[in-house]
Amino acid sequence: MTGAYDTGLDRNPANYAPLTPLGFIERAATVYPDKTAVIHGAGRTSYAEFYRRCRRMASALRGRGIGRGDTVSVMAPNVPALLEANFGVAMAGAVLNAINTRLDAATVAFILGHCGAKLLIGDTEYSDVIGPALAAMPEPPPMVDLDDPLRLPDKGGDRLGRTDYEAFLDEGSADAAWDGPADEWQACALNYTSGTTGNPKGVVFHHRGAFLNALGNAISFGLDRETVYLWTLPMFHCNGWTYTWAVTAVAGTHVCLRRVEPEPIFAQIKAHRVTHMCGAPVVLNMLVHAPDRIKQRFDHVVEVATGGAAPPSAVMTAMQAMGFRVTHLYGLTESYGPATLCAWQEAWDDLPPDQRAAMTARQGVRYLTLDAVRVADPERAVEVPSDGATIGEVMLRGNTIMKGYLGNPAATEAAFRHGWLHTGDLAVRHPDGYIEIKDRSKDIIISGGENISSIEVEEVLFRHPAILEAAVVARPDPKWGESVCAFVTALPEAAVSEPEIIDYCRDNMAHFKAPKTVVFGPLPKTATGKVQKFVLRRRAKAL
Ligand code: ADP
Repeated sequence: MTGAYDTGLDRNPANYAPLTPLGFIERAATVYPDKTAVIHGAGRTSYAEFYRRCRRMASALRGRGIGRGDTVSVMAPNVPALLEANFGVAMAGAVLNAINTRLDAATVAFILGHCGAKLLIGDTEYSDVIGPALAAMPEPPPMVDLDDPLRLPDKGGDRLGRTDYEAFLDEGSADAAWDGPADEWQACALNYTSGTTGNPKGVVFHHRGAFLNALGNAISFGLDRETVYLWTLPMFHCNGWTYTWAVTAVAGTHVCLRRVEPEPIFAQIKAHRVTHMCGAPVVLNMLVHAPDRIKQRFDHVVEVATGGAAPPSAVMTAMQAMGFRVTHLYGLTESYGPATLCAWQEAWDDLPPDQRAAMTARQGVRYLTLDAVRVADPERAVEVPSDGATIGEVMLRGNTIMKGYLGNPAATEAAFRHGWLHTGDLAVRHPDGYIEIKDRSKDIIISGGENISSIEVEEVLFRHPAILEAAVVARPDPKWGESVCAFVTALPEAAVSEPEIIDYCRDNMAHFKAPKTVVFGPLPKTATGKVQKFVLRRRAKAL
């Protein structure tokens, strides 16, 4: 049935345009042409110049016949070229595939082949990996070498392609016209998940989701034109959780960072009066335990958003004590990075410290730009009661959920069953609606028929004064089915023993949850600083 509201009120170019983050840079460059967009070492790039370089990239790509539906891969640390690619590639109509810089040659070759990359822009630091990856491919893509003056001299350094990045930009013209997407559903980025259980899956983002999640970030994290954003989170990780676009949307300043280490981080915060940064809990922990000679105090508050793994409250509390304000986010590659946040309630200010910490440790409520989050029975998608105790799977729905997995309809269908994105994360929902993740489904430990949340046990371990970091996994146990096995990195000067840690845990949690085994040593991590629990499970099994 059509009514008065449907007649003569159609969409037209005056009232409807595809949502895209590409307009962010055009606007920032028009409104603030002279403002510093990017800082890299001693280099400064204004918004006008940043935009010109992106247009030159788009035009150079088009000149090479790369456009709609094509993929351009980039393997680089947090340098200006990767920021430029976050706009320039999509301005050519193509899809940006930023590759995790810690992958091995075989996985890089798999990704390049799987996405059919038409071009690879690679930082020469990774020539030792990229070279063998290209050699392993029947039809390797042409390569553009990024030879960053700030590269450390001891790694890589070989030029593998025929063109250097600056010469490549010279192929294009800043005056060439570019178009936004004809349809906001068009793909703009492709990010591979870590693939701990087989080949990685390629998560496809569309322009609409990129636009929305970037603005969701800007609003949740309070970004504005005064924002100075330090790149402590890899830009290859969900386009830097979409902050590549979010910071540009508000015409803030991007501070690039090749090495995510305490010394340059503290130095950059001080030098540029950084206001915002993001990082996995492991990055925060690294700052907390940095030597005193490196640590600095600031006369302004630095906002830090953390997520990607459960941040132990001891780490968040220590960061606050150092003058940082911590926001807790949760999400996954499939949700363009952050999808929920632990929105702060004023009433929590007055809680005793341990209860406040418990509130902060929750993953919270949906982003403004996400439609819905639910905790539900994974088989029937029926919500569990909001009692803070019944465990279900976290499911997400909305416009900031991936299009699907590239070339993998079976995995896409499985991820989207019941009309929700199944995250594989197990959580409870509290009576106030906040969710709290207990574990990934594959990480939960089942001992004597009881579920044990590895996050809960780790939370206690992190509070032990001699422990730098810890991870717990299931170890096969003849009596209980599984028992808790803790892998612990002690602080360098600390002397602590297995029985001491077990006793400490028994004093601070139900006895059945306490580890039965403690192994000391460094923890294996992924490129984004997450502990590789599958490696630990293998080790625990072999003990
Ligand atoms: P992967 O870790 O598999 O490479 P992602 O980077 O997409 O892939 O990580 C998403 C996963 O990280 C989530 O499914 C969840 O298990 C975990 N995660 C992210 N944020 C949090 C958080 N705040 N608390 C607990 N777990 C988190």
